[in-house]
Amino acid sequence: MPEGHSVHRIARQFRHNFVGKTVRASSPQGRFAEGAAVLDGRTITDVDAVGKQMFMHFGDDVWLRVHLGMYGAWDFAGQITTDPTIESAAGRMGQTNQRGTVLADADADADVDADTDAEAETAAPASDAPRTGKRRVAAAGNKRDDVLLAELRDADGEDSVSSIGAPRRARVRMSEQTKGLPEDDETFPPEPVGAVRVRLLSDTTVADLRGPTACEVVTGADVQRVIDSLGPDPQHDDTQAAEDRFTATVRKKPTPIGLLLMDQKVVSGIGNVYRAELLFRAKVNPHTPGKLVPEETVRGIWRDWVRLLAIGIETGQMMTMDDLDDEGYRLAMASRADRHWVYKREGLPCRVCGTHISLEEMGARKLYWCPVCQA
Ligand SMILES: [Zn+2]
Repeated sequence: MPEGHSVHRIARQFRHNFVGKTVRASSPQGRFAEGAAVLDGRTITDVDAVGKQMFMHFGDDVWLRVHLGMYGAWDFAGQITTDPTIESAAGRMGQTNQRGTVLADADADADVDADTDAEAETAAPASDAPRTGKRRVAAAGNKRDDVLLAELRDADGEDSVSSIGAPRRARVRMSEQTKGLPEDDETFPPEPVGAVRVRLLSDTTVADLRGPTACEVVTGADVQRVIDSLGPDPQHDDTQAAEDRFTATVRKKPTPIGLLLMDQKVVSGIGNVYRAELLFRAKVNPHTPGKLVPEETVRGIWRDWVRLLAIGIETGQMMTMDDLDDEGYRLAMASRADRHWVYKREGLPCRVCGTHISLEEMGARKLYWCPVCQA
């Protein structure tokens, strides 16, 4: 399940490559043929994300609503534009899974450092090469499809001119899913592969959507209704009112805080990883009823979510550890094992107190926490 940062990254990619463009829309799979016919020939005017939902405005009162669900994925091909924020975050874009970002030397085959086992939980060790010269970023995982060749910085650490906003041919997948893409080729647009629900095609870039939970043409009123039904998303609304709304909702409920954070009606975009990490960082027992969590603590969790979500969007990783030195940061970007306080660390000693991290089920999802730090 993509957590909120992934969907925001996808929306941002659409803003860079599709907003202002007139698109051909089609449904190679056929299931969205009617909707695609409505979108076809229109110009995308805006793209926004709230929590795990994305809304694309095609002018007038025509919107596309997409929820990726567990298996949905967007694949971009053709000219993919990176932006300064992606660039400053060491170039990670596309892969939003948890496997890691491997910083590899530009002269090496980027695939060498990519994890060849698509099921592996952690990325291969990053190159120990010094950080000089132009670099490539390889997103570890399925090496065929998720290697993004972005030249990032020159030897002086300055932005390389060609790397900011420069279009390049690339094929990028944006979702949790990583498998099943064909090899890159030079034909544009590439033939749709598999069950593509909708294909959006500009003169230079193509985006294919597969496996979403929701993909429908809606009106602006529909969009507003969906947004109103969702808890606040700091990237959509970072006002004091949003913090107040979250705090008030949590503090009137008897439900355990560990469940409230996963409830998209309470707060948008938090999934299993951020849930566990936010609660550890706040030193809150996941079983505590929302109404018994002190107000300042609830507000602190919101502010921490504001911060962690922004980091997730910039880095493409659910980076939840602070104050890492350079080496620690490199390891953490490359490997989940070095990136989290408690998530997937069951049985391992707590980084703070040494107690074994607990694993239990809460709301049919795995919950990781430290019974001492979060007593
Ligand atoms: Zn602990």
